[in-house]
Amino acid sequence: MTFEFFDVTVLRRELLSPSAVRIVFGGSSLAAFAGGGRDQRFKLFLPQPHQGAAVVPRGEDWYPRWRAADPATRAVMRTYTVREQRDGEFDVDFAVHDTVSAGPASSWARHARPGDRAVVLGPTLADNGGVDFRPLPDTDWVLLTGDETAVPALAGILSWVGTSMPVRAWIEVHDAADVRDLPRAAGVELTWLVGGGVLDAVRAADLPGGTPYAWVAGESAVVRSVRRHLVAERGVERHRVMFTGYWRRGATEDDLLAESP
Ligand SMILES: Cc1cc2nc3c(=O)[nH]c(=O)nc-3n(C[C@H](O)[C@H](O)[C@H](O)COP(=O)(O)OP(=O)(O)OC[C@H]3O[C@@H](n4cnc5c(N)ncnc54)[C@H](O)[C@@H]3O)c2cc1C
Repeated sequence: MTFEFFDVTVLRRELLSPSAVRIVFGGSSLAAFAGGGRDQRFKLFLPQPHQGAAVVPRGEDWYPRWRAADPATRAVMRTYTVREQRDGEFDVDFAVHDTVSAGPASSWARHARPGDRAVVLGPTLADNGGVDFRPLPDTDWVLLTGDETAVPALAGILSWVGTSMPVRAWIEVHDAADVRDLPRAAGVELTWLVGGGVLDAVRAADLPGGTPYAWVAGESAVVRSVRRHLVAERGVERHRVMFTGYWRRGATEDDLLAESP
C-alpha cells in the first residue's frame, strides 16, 4: 500500500502571515510517513465542529464508505500539501482565506490548538502518485505559477529543483505581508504579485528559450487561463504543462468531489 491512514495531533500552530497558518502535526506512527517532497499532496480528515475526533472509515473501500456516510457526521475531507517533514512530525501551511467564505478546513486551522486530533491519508513510499511535479528529462527550464494555496508546493518544488535548472515563478498573494521567504537557489527568478494578476504577468514576460516544464496551480479558472496561454499562445506542448485546480471560487471541495464519478 502506498497510502495509509495516520492518526495525528496538533503539536504547534504558528501564524506565518495574515493569510497563512502553519500547523505542525505529530503522531506515534509517523515514522512510516514517507513524503516524496515537491508538491506531495495528502488527504486531511477533520472532525465536525461538534466532534472531538474525525469519523473516517478505514480499509481498502474507505472512499465509497466515506462518500455514502452522512455528511453531518463523517469527517470533513480536504486536500493539502506536505510543506516539510521531520522526524515524527510534518508541517502543513493553510491559506486561511477570508472569513465570509471560510470553509471548515481553513476555519479549523485558524482555531486549532495543541492536542487537537485529525486523520491523514498519506504516503508510505517516497515515490508515490501524490507527487505531480515531474519535469521531463529534456527540460531546460521550469515555469511555476500559484497562489497562497500553492505556496507550500512551490516551496517544496523550489528546494527540490535547487540549482539544477533555471526557474521563473509567479505567486499571487492577497497582501504584501503574505510575501514569504522561500528556498531560492541562484537561477530562480521569483515574482510576488500582491492582489493577483498572474496571467497578465506571464503574458507580459520575456520567457527563456529552450524547452520548458510548467507547473500551474491555484484557483481553477486562473489555472485554466494560464495553461491556455502557455499552450495556445506560447506553443508549449500539452504534456509539458502540469496543471491542477487547487480550489474553485464559489465551490467547496465537497462540491468538486460530487461532480466526479
Ligand atoms: C493537490 C492540492 C494541494 C493543496 N494544498 C494546499 C495547501 O498546502 N494549503 C492550502 O491552504 N490549500 C491547499 N489546497 C487547497 C485547499 O484544499 C482548498 O482551498 C480547500 O477548498 C480548503 O478547504 P476549506 O474547507 O477551507 O474550504 P471549502 O469548504 O472547500 O470552500 C469554502 C469556500 O471557500 C472558497 N475557498 C476555498 N479555498 C479558498 C482560497 N484559498 N481562497 C479563497 N476562497 C477559497 C471556496 O470556493 C468556497 O466558496 C490544495 C488543493 C489541492 C487539490
